Amino acid sequence: MAKKDRDDDSDEVSPAETLASLERLARLIRQAAHAEGLIPVQWEALRYVARANRLSNSPGALARYIGATKGTVSQTIGRLVKRGLLAKSERPADVRSIALTLTEQARALLMKDPLLAVAGDVDELGGKTHRRLSRGLNLLLAREALRQNQPLFGTCGDCRYLREGNAGAGPVCMKDNAGLSADEMARLCIEHTPRN
Ligand code: SF4
Repeated sequence: MAKKDRDDDSDEVSPAETLASLERLARLIRQAAHAEGLIPVQWEALRYVARANRLSNSPGALARYIGATKGTVSQTIGRLVKRGLLAKSERPADVRSIALTLTEQARALLMKDPLLAVAGDVDELGGKTHRRLSRGLNLLLAREALRQNQPLFGTCGDCRYLREGNAGAGPVCMKDNAGLSADEMARLCIEHTPRN
């Protein structure tokens, strides 16, 4: 990482220590996700579908996001559908492609997501620390995704496909030539490509 990217106090802690903390936190979060009769990969799938946009709510995109095989994802989706937490439908433009959506039951269950406790801790860090943490994690994630040739996933704000529509028509995605609501703008997208 370039010297200019480093914080003033970065020499107080080694990269190995930081990574060890990150790894252990991820492990503890995963351990806590054996809750409400679900296993970690099922929580991950529900969280992803809750955030995914119209270009990304497919089984294939879910597999790439959580880094699982198509077989594992297909099994996970099957179990969640059976429990009444996920619904599958055909896309109007492509009947061979499946769109995943959350059921009302899943939305209610996500209010008891074990990850909410950690989200509260992140909130308590306060604005500046939280922003720095978020920037640092996003940078690490982008570099590792690039090394592993994985999609980055991101939101519209800094995407090169975002344009302003004609005559004040609002924002448009040039990837699928369709308008974007405020809700869509905040959702995760597998096609997200940073502007640089
Ligand atoms: S503008 Fe980019 S991030 Fe937004 S929907 Fe289009 S491709 Fe995805």
